[in-house]
Amino acid sequence: MTSAASPMTDEDVRGKVRAWLRDNWKDDLPRAAQWSTSPEMRAWLNKVVDARWAVNRWPAAWYGRGFSDAQAEIVEQEFRAVRAPGAGQDKTQLYAITALSFGTDAMKHRLLRGIITGEIAMCLLYSEPGAGSDLAGVRTRAERDREDFVVNGQKVWTSGAMTADYGMLIARTDWDVPKHQGISFFFLPMKQSGVEVRPLRQVTGESHFNEVFLTDARVPAENLLGGLNKGWRVLQTALAYERSVMGEMARGPRRNADGAANDLVALAREAGRLSDPVLRQQLARVLGYRRVNALNNARAKADLETGTSSSIMSLGKLAMSRILHEEARLRTALLGAGSVLEGDAFPRADDANFLALNAYFTSIGGGTDQIQRNIIGERVLGLPKEPEVDRDIPFRDVRAG
Ligand SMILES: Cc1cc2nc3c(=O)[nH]c(=O)nc-3n(C[C@H](O)[C@H](O)[C@H](O)COP(=O)(O)OP(=O)(O)OC[C@H]3O[C@@H](n4cnc5c(N)ncnc54)[C@H](O)[C@@H]3O)c2cc1C
Repeated sequence: MTSAASPMTDEDVRGKVRAWLRDNWKDDLPRAAQWSTSPEMRAWLNKVVDARWAVNRWPAAWYGRGFSDAQAEIVEQEFRAVRAPGAGQDKTQLYAITALSFGTDAMKHRLLRGIITGEIAMCLLYSEPGAGSDLAGVRTRAERDREDFVVNGQKVWTSGAMTADYGMLIARTDWDVPKHQGISFFFLPMKQSGVEVRPLRQVTGESHFNEVFLTDARVPAENLLGGLNKGWRVLQTALAYERSVMGEMARGPRRNADGAANDLVALAREAGRLSDPVLRQQLARVLGYRRVNALNNARAKADLETGTSSSIMSLGKLAMSRILHEEARLRTALLGAGSVLEGDAFPRADDANFLALNAYFTSIGGGTDQIQRNIIGERVLGLPKEPEVDRDIPFRDVRAG
């Protein structure tokens, strides 16, 4: 993914992208459909990809411009300034980044563009009923059958499985080696008879995730990433990217009807609590954490660009989890007794309740807070490794449950 930076100056880049946006961006996409599957959105994203603004850091062979991080940032700033979506996917599009880094050229030709334009929807087939924090314990099996692998097993907590065209799947391909060494990583086609998706209902009332039952599902061998039994390395890199995104971006209020809903200072002012000394302290703490976290994420991204799966990403994700819980507590305190209300008539209270429940998305999804602490302890602080009695024995001999 590393490519020599473009010889264009920063001012050239800014001028070029600004002119392109002026000529092409009309800001007429329905806001509610911003990240949905609307035809307008598809048409716009296709345009962004054709103009090579979607993944600037990538090489020209794969829709990019070989821009440096600083140049790509300029493009993203200009897109943000006019509220145009589609740029910066080389930083945020986990599926495309994983495909680019580890996929075969044939697979990249078939899928990469569709993933960037959103025409191909994706999901993550990692967690299983007996393997969540310890993903190396997956028991879903993939067995070679001529040009395909045949997959059997069960996944759970699969966000977006209902609409996904492909799932990034980890499955066991060798049971006679220790658990980390017998796992392979695939792009599994979801729309086939061997894949059954059953939705689960969340505490927020939404149904984003699902159980997925795999019965003789087929995946072409061409969709194997990183090599047979080499899936653990692919997974570690993909998880680091996922944590980096979760450490930077988190879902805001559900209704998000006005800008003030996201601005904590404006909320405190609106609630008449801006001069409350205790709440001011809490407010300053949340804003301070946000700033430090943004700087930390920039450092982690720089590490990741050198090709390492940065454990510093875990710091960012852990910090974001803390920020979201603290922010939910602050919103509740600002509203006082009114925070127990909910529904359309009480949008601020409804937001506070939603955010309090939804904060668990970040503190569980993509690896729990406890697991992030283990990673930080072992890989950042150099503390002794957590004992793992089944690490070096053939997976076939590991006790299930
Ligand atoms: C909103 C959301 C979306 C998700 N989306 C997806 C998805 O799209 N695809 C997917 O595959 N998965 C998804 N997940 C699943 C998620 O990755 C797992 O829930 C998570 O990794 C924890 O696994 P588990 O639920 O099996 O809990 P367990 O691993 O059973 O853990 C239970 C508890 O024990 C603690 N624990 C476990 N091991 C240790 C240890 N070694 N040290 C200290 N504490 C430990 C955990 O922190 C946790 O508190 C999602 C989860 C959420 C909340």
